[in-house]
Amino acid sequence: MSTTERLYYQDSHLTEFTARVTRVEEFAPGRFGVMLDRTAFYPTGGGQPTDTGTLDGARVVECVDQEEAGVLHVLEGEPPAVDAEIVGRVDWLRRLDHIQQHTGQHILSQALVTLFAAPTRAFRMLERISEIDVELNDPTRERIEQAVDLANRVVWEDRPVRIYHVTTDEAAQLPLRRDSAREGSLRVIEIENFDLSPCGGTHAQRTGEVGLIAVRAWERAKGMTRLEFVAGARALADYRRANETARQVAAHFSAGRDDAPASVARLLADHKELTRRVRELEETTARVEADELRAATAPDAHGTRIVARTFAGRDADSLKRLALALIAQPNTIALLGSSDADNARLIFARSADARGDMNTLMRAACTLVAGRGGGRADMAQGGGRNIAQLANAIETAARSLA
Ligand SMILES: [Zn+2]
Repeated sequence: MSTTERLYYQDSHLTEFTARVTRVEEFAPGRFGVMLDRTAFYPTGGGQPTDTGTLDGARVVECVDQEEAGVLHVLEGEPPAVDAEIVGRVDWLRRLDHIQQHTGQHILSQALVTLFAAPTRAFRMLERISEIDVELNDPTRERIEQAVDLANRVVWEDRPVRIYHVTTDEAAQLPLRRDSAREGSLRVIEIENFDLSPCGGTHAQRTGEVGLIAVRAWERAKGMTRLEFVAGARALADYRRANETARQVAAHFSAGRDDAPASVARLLADHKELTRRVRELEETTARVEADELRAATAPDAHGTRIVARTFAGRDADSLKRLALALIAQPNTIALLGSSDADNARLIFARSADARGDMNTLMRAACTLVAGRGGGRADMAQGGGRNIAQLANAIETAARSLA
């Protein structure tokens, strides 16, 4: 068993170090796991993703925490020999990003405790954003922005961040923000006069390094409030994306970014009114068309007008509107079909005083067009893929009413 000395516990800004290789093993096909006597690489854990970097020339793609056994560095390429002295380099921009999100999380979580006695129960650092699950019952915009304001005040006060190693007994005497499940020696992170919590992650040396903390969104989830936040360089990247989105929306209206919401609201109101007017016109058109179709159809022996028609490319709504306009007149049966490149659509309907079971007729018609459908005795709908049989299906239905 080998134990790796974890250099990142004492210095989260150390990016270059020398170490001795204590073990090499095959981790996956073509990938080797390398154990060192000491490392500055942070392994995946505690809601924080792995560091990446290099060991001599070889790329470190992931670091795995094997607890007591140490930190396993997963390499792409040739591994070093056991007992070799190597130089490790941690990718600093990725580490800095993790430092900003992680320290930002401590600050935001403590701000929510300070203002609303709302503790954080979970933390996840994702690709672009981070999430915390908070016991905050009433997540209004005002309350969340109040916490964001306090968090940023602490960032800009540039308070020192300190690391302590204490025993479990000593920890019990400290006003820690959360309990630790760990036994034995405990690592405690202090943000001066603000937050004290046990944590094994990498943190800023001073809060100013976090730069900025912003909450993007929140929702109620599993009885808690899930907050999406970004800190540091991520906040700048997120601002750029949000700004670009707002500018693109505003450009459609030749308006300024800040005027975009009012412009969109006006457009939606116009759209609603236009939709209402189009509906009215469609219904009027359907009535006129129905009158013409009815007038062109001679009544049969029962005095019933059976309007049997197929259309090209007519959508289901339009077909149904026409059927309803037809059967608004007494003693009328509508047997209508429409086809586009892929599908045949059918609607059979009759006025209350006309004869025939539309459901039965529809089932027979759908067999012909190789599809499915049905409904009630006075109205049924269906469709199928055999477009070539559409006209035949409607003629057959008309014949069976004779
Ligand atoms: Zn932490």
